[in-house]
Amino acid sequence: MDENLTIIGSGPAGYTAGLYAARASLEPILFEGIESGGQLMLTTDVENYPGFKEGIMGPDLMQEFKSQAEKFGTRILPLTVSSIEKVSGGFELFTTKENYYSKSVIISSGASAKWLGVEGEKRLQGYGVSACATCDGFFFKDKIVVVIGGGDSAMEEALFLTKFAKKVYIIHRKSSFRASSIMQKRVLDHKKIKVLWNKEVKEILGEDSVTSVSLKDTESSSVEKLETNAVFVAIGHTPNVGFLQGLLELDDKGYIKTGFTTQTSTSIDGIFAAGDVADSIYRQAITAAGTGCQAAMDAERWLES
Ligand code: NDP
Repeated sequence: MDENLTIIGSGPAGYTAGLYAARASLEPILFEGIESGGQLMLTTDVENYPGFKEGIMGPDLMQEFKSQAEKFGTRILPLTVSSIEKVSGGFELFTTKENYYSKSVIISSGASAKWLGVEGEKRLQGYGVSACATCDGFFFKDKIVVVIGGGDSAMEEALFLTKFAKKVYIIHRKSSFRASSIMQKRVLDHKKIKVLWNKEVKEILGEDSVTSVSLKDTESSSVEKLETNAVFVAIGHTPNVGFLQGLLELDDKGYIKTGFTTQTSTSIDGIFAAGDVADSIYRQAITAAGTGCQAAMDAERWLES
């Protein structure tokens, strides 16, 4: 086998695994994947990462993670792993270029945004439909925008959009949010934000760009149209496990099942999982980083034994 350890994914979990594995002299390689830096690259202020009292911008935090992992010798490759096969003595990793052989693997491929799956959503992506206010909010200066969802992501997106839009509607299918109370309060106190409770988006309308959404009231079933220039979908994420092609056992929500022998061990000996790809509950940068550290330590002990 050429490599001791390869790490798949470049979010907080992957870079932390790289940092710990490199400091343990495992000379790890890390595949960055398509969304280099992970979900924090799409975030503005991160106020809850310990050690940054004044907050830090998501992309700046990820640059710090990356530099620290590289400083100790993690080799970071701008490649995406398309599949993994178990071979004698380890694993073969297929990438868009060459194949790699490794004794052990840490999967930290994260999670990606979910979509509503309604008419018009796909067709108008990039023309007013987005899952990233940080990326696209700027284009809606003095316009009307809607945000879909009732979690912390929806609150964060809505608050961010108030910097540009003249009016922000939050459309939520229930009569209460599941977001943290501090975020809810900020949203409910904001003059530019109006919440439309008990509404489901049935269709996103517009020829060349978004002009309105069709909303169904979940209680009365009545349908109404709301004019808007953009739709920001913030309804959660799905774990990035497609490339595993059934190699590992998943839990009932589709996340990688861990905890077989050690905390980050998976159903296959020698493969470990860390971060959002194995966590449907906490999903924080700090918890992802924590499990990245655990995975590197688990892999190190596994390689030794
Ligand atoms: P969540 O799963 O917490 O929330 C998803 C929201 O979208 C829910 O309100 C859900 O509604 C709604 N929803 C899901 N599917 C649909 C659908 N098909 N149609 C309409 N609405 C739908 O995801 P988040 O991304 O908001 O948050 C994930 C985790 O990340 C949480 O733990 C959160 O605390 C954390 N986070 C923390 C932040 C921070 O601290 N700054 C920022 C962003 C996220 P329902 O309630 O009815 O199920």
